[in-house]
Amino acid sequence: MPSIDGIHHVTAFADEPQENYDFFTNVLGLRFVKRTVRFDVPEKIYHLYYGDERGTPGTIITYFPMTNMEMGDGMVGKGQMSSVGLVIPEGSVDYWTGRFEAHGVDYDVEERFDETAVAFTDPDGTPYELVTGESDIEPWEGSDVPAEHGIRGMHSTTIHSADPQGTFDVLETMGWERLGRADHPQAGDRVRYEAPGDTTRADVVDVLIRPNAPDGVMGVGTFLHVAFRVNNNWEQDEWSDTLRENGYITTSRKDRDYFQSRYITEPGGAVFEYATTDVGFDVDEDIDELGENLKKPDWLDVDLEEIERMLPDLETN
Ligand code: ZN
Repeated sequence: MPSIDGIHHVTAFADEPQENYDFFTNVLGLRFVKRTVRFDVPEKIYHLYYGDERGTPGTIITYFPMTNMEMGDGMVGKGQMSSVGLVIPEGSVDYWTGRFEAHGVDYDVEERFDETAVAFTDPDGTPYELVTGESDIEPWEGSDVPAEHGIRGMHSTTIHSADPQGTFDVLETMGWERLGRADHPQAGDRVRYEAPGDTTRADVVDVLIRPNAPDGVMGVGTFLHVAFRVNNNWEQDEWSDTLRENGYITTSRKDRDYFQSRYITEPGGAVFEYATTDVGFDVDEDIDELGENLKKPDWLDVDLEEIERMLPDLETN
């Protein structure tokens, strides 16, 4: 069976959709690749997607802006995802710290695993890092970020595990390989896992070990889940069987329109999704028009124009 060779997307909760959109497109320079209604509460919430030109798996960050719902602020902590890394080229750290200063974005620079990581948060406090490294993704050229410095998809996700051994076990069940901490003395309280094979796209999970830290609280400014790549429904079923044989409870398949998904909650507290790569964002819009129109799944029988009037305003470039 083909291996799980990296991350497909991550999903988080925001407050205002406009602020979220402005940050990811105008500050980070990502492409807005899709705007749908949230399938279970279409009249209240958007589902917004950012990524590279096509929304290639391994570049996609998605948000539920919760303005119209009763969701309080979350707190990033133990038992959940605690950061997402995005790839920038080796020589681009000064460009990005300068850009963050110009946009009033606070940041911290750290060295670890022979990489430079520039940590920052989105406007709602959700943590990200720009990490220097390699990627097979081309930057989106439709923003004012010069292509030589542009973000090249995802690098990693960090899980602040409530049960580090449990998180190691599930990653190993998925076929991921551990890079020992001893080999990387500067890595401190994190253990790195890499996807098998020679992909260089979104193929890293760092497990953060801080047992005395406070538990995270899900809400605005926190991540909901990380999705890993599987090629199609057959592979997803095979992986679901493997996970079940190892004691993990997988959900039934959910139709997400642009991919098909199953989920587990791993022992460390994070939600892992297994999303197929064989559909994509061009099923209902041409590549050069991605994100321009509000979309809904075919099975959802609602009047999209009426729904659009009920949703918060969202001005796109
Ligand atoms: Zn997802």
